[in-house]
Amino acid sequence: METKKKDIRALTKEQLREFFVQQGDKAFRGNQVYEWLWSKSAHHFDDMTNISKQTRDMLDANFVINHIEVDAMQKSSDGTIKNAVRLHDGLIVESVLIPAKNRTTACVSSQVGCSLDCKFCATARLKRMRNLNPDEIYDQVVAIDQESRLYHDRPLSNIVFMGMGEPLMNYNNVLKAIDKITSPEGLGMSPKRIVVSTSGVPKMIKKMADEEVKFKLAVSLHSAIDEVRTSIMPFNATFPLSDLRESLQYWYAKTKNRITYEYVVWKGINDKRKDVDALVEFCKFAPSKVNLIEYNPIDDGEFQQANNEALDMYVNVLEKNNITVTVRRSRGKDIDAACGQLANKS
Ligand code: SAH
Repeated sequence: METKKKDIRALTKEQLREFFVQQGDKAFRGNQVYEWLWSKSAHHFDDMTNISKQTRDMLDANFVINHIEVDAMQKSSDGTIKNAVRLHDGLIVESVLIPAKNRTTACVSSQVGCSLDCKFCATARLKRMRNLNPDEIYDQVVAIDQESRLYHDRPLSNIVFMGMGEPLMNYNNVLKAIDKITSPEGLGMSPKRIVVSTSGVPKMIKKMADEEVKFKLAVSLHSAIDEVRTSIMPFNATFPLSDLRESLQYWYAKTKNRITYEYVVWKGINDKRKDVDALVEFCKFAPSKVNLIEYNPIDDGEFQQANNEALDMYVNVLEKNNITVTVRRSRGKDIDAACGQLANKS
């Protein structure tokens, strides 16, 4: 049922303290409830055991806790877990737990669907329905942390914003969520273990740089030649490489944080020497490294992973130019949990 009650987690700690003072209670009660809502991740007011029944009922009459529900959980043969997450209004997003030898990474969504139109990405086929709220992003991380403890005997160690959506098109909420994730009153995680991945929205990259954020930046580059990039990522026509380049130089000047370029090599699209040469030039603009990621087919065969010779050429040329390059294998492909495969299929 649609409810008119306000989502209590939209309030800041200060607003919650004020609310209690207005109710004739102590401001400190706001701190207690805030702790339940965030670091203890309570789903119901009745979970708040050090709060009187009367106060819990009063909260229930005024607010809701719009908590996410993990609707379905799928486990891959390689240990990857994909959560279908139901939001309070019934919409679904996906998040993924990726286990590795010494770490567990959460891949979280920032929007329902996506506002961009990358031709190779399954999420792009869902139109953008809405932005996620900070608490909906935070809750995905909490759910993965719990699964990591349960199935892999260790807490979550890293977070990547590489699920559904373009994080910089939901900038304020993503930054608020990261504040909560890194705050001691939330999960207390280090921002250095968080990567925000963007297709490259120059204005927002500059804004982030101005705010001197401490998390890492990854850019889905895929081509350093405008015509090629526009043909596979049409929004590049609006935000061309020259603007992206300028914003990345600004980012590095302000944050001193090197940039990761994510890059898929496709047969017949960007597998030629001129493509590598353009990438090498682009990498010289600001300290950076390249992750060559495996293509995860999404259907009709329009895009195909380039052959090994092309990949070897990329690695050789980049290394000769002293650019760090890593070849990344995808995880969770058997459950459609790999990069670009998140499309609420099951
Ligand atoms: N919108 C953000 C984050 C989501 S995509 C961004 O563009 O960075 C996360 C990464 O997966 C991006 O690098 C994206 O280009 C890549 N990706 C998308 N579809 C893919 C596919 N089918 N196979 C491999 N990688 C893909």
